[in-house]
Amino acid sequence: MTTTPNVPAAPAFDAHHPPEREIIDKCVHCGFCLPVCPTYVLWGQEMDSPRGRIYLMKLAAEGAAQMTPAWVSHFDTCLGCMACITACPSGVDYGKLVEATRAQIERNTARTASEKRHRSFLFKNFARPERLHRLRAPLLAYQKSGLQALVRGLGLLKILPKKWQAMEALLPRLAPQETVPELTPAVGAKRRRVGLLLGCVQREFFSHVNAATVRVLAAEGCEIVAPRTQGCCGALLVHAGEEASAVEFAKKTIDAFEQANVETIVTNAAGCGSNVKEYGHLLRDDPAYADRARNFSAKCKDVSEVLAELGTRSPRHPLKLRVAFHDSCHLQHAQGVRAQPRALLSGIPGLQLAEIPEAPICCGSAGIFNLVQPDTARELGDRKAEHIAALNPDVVVTGNPGCVLQLQSALARQHRKTPVLHTIELLDASLRGQTLDSLRR
Ligand code: SF4
Ligand code: SF4
Repeated sequence: MTTTPNVPAAPAFDAHHPPEREIIDKCVHCGFCLPVCPTYVLWGQEMDSPRGRIYLMKLAAEGAAQMTPAWVSHFDTCLGCMACITACPSGVDYGKLVEATRAQIERNTARTASEKRHRSFLFKNFARPERLHRLRAPLLAYQKSGLQALVRGLGLLKILPKKWQAMEALLPRLAPQETVPELTPAVGAKRRRVGLLLGCVQREFFSHVNAATVRVLAAEGCEIVAPRTQGCCGALLVHAGEEASAVEFAKKTIDAFEQANVETIVTNAAGCGSNVKEYGHLLRDDPAYADRARNFSAKCKDVSEVLAELGTRSPRHPLKLRVAFHDSCHLQHAQGVRAQPRALLSGIPGLQLAEIPEAPICCGSAGIFNLVQPDTARELGDRKAEHIAALNPDVVVTGNPGCVLQLQSALARQHRKTPVLHTIELLDASLRGQTLDSLRR
């Protein structure tokens, strides 16, 4: 009688950077990550938890599961919020696992025609500041002419697919664009020369945040370089599994900042910040860029980290406000930055800081998540808005443009007009002796 040899099944992943087996094997299935995982909190399904998703990766790595639509769906619903990393006592770097898995999905599975069209629209526009810039004029006309109010009031948006409705609901109220000079001198004695990553959405739709960042850094003794040649850092792409395009954007960003000769590279959008801090990993195989990427990443810091390091030099004026601080996931979980923004806000005389319950749980923004999974994002946004409303703050403050949009939209659904600002805007107002009303747009 002949026996069949024990041939191991072929893995579902291709050979280019599959999720690392050493990281997968670190998971001891303890479940400490479950209570902070937004999808597990909403649905209570093991396969929509970090532990379940890691198990799905293990099965695919061993050839015991294929990347079927059902398998892929558990990764499409993952927000990439990284709350599981903070919660994990075993140090499982889920971020590296999910980014590798998503790149495998995009290379080796087929999206439907409508998914392809939608994703292509998002990447072609949101990861290209020049294209976002061209959208400004028609969007401004849509808002200023009263057409937006009319369309919303008549409920006409309901005829659009949900994903397009979600995009319209998230539109920021546009104001005239504030440009940041390529070089801004320090006020008084120079303490540091820094580069500023302008972002894409931040640059075009939140240019006032970049302008405020430059004013605050200059007031605290920084000379700021904002290289004109910088484009998109690739954050949206890398978080969505579009690895090849993300690599190209990363190289261009490194090229732009190397010429600026700065000590620190400042980010003020948490999603971009967490991405540029990982360039060393993204470009690890590239002989021309691996070392340069590691050096670049080592210089990157969120603006709150830089200001905390520098210490206070400029006097703060009082702002008698009750402020609800919202931790952006890519700041608190991906970058481990929690204390610094709180310290900055607490340093403003008269300001009272209120902590939002369930702080580790995502608001539903999560890169393009609220555009590709609008129902789940809405549920998470509503949950967060209820927690915020219970605090009755004068203003909500956070460190990421995506969270600003998501929270504004969720609060508006509850008919609340509480403004949502970037942390640096409030600090800038305090330095300039302005009031909250002057920041309402
Ligand atoms: S990244 Fe967020 S949504 Fe995804 S598994 Fe971890 S906690 Fe859950
Ligand atoms: S907390 Fe860490 S080790 Fe425990 S199940 Fe979650 S990922 Fe695995």
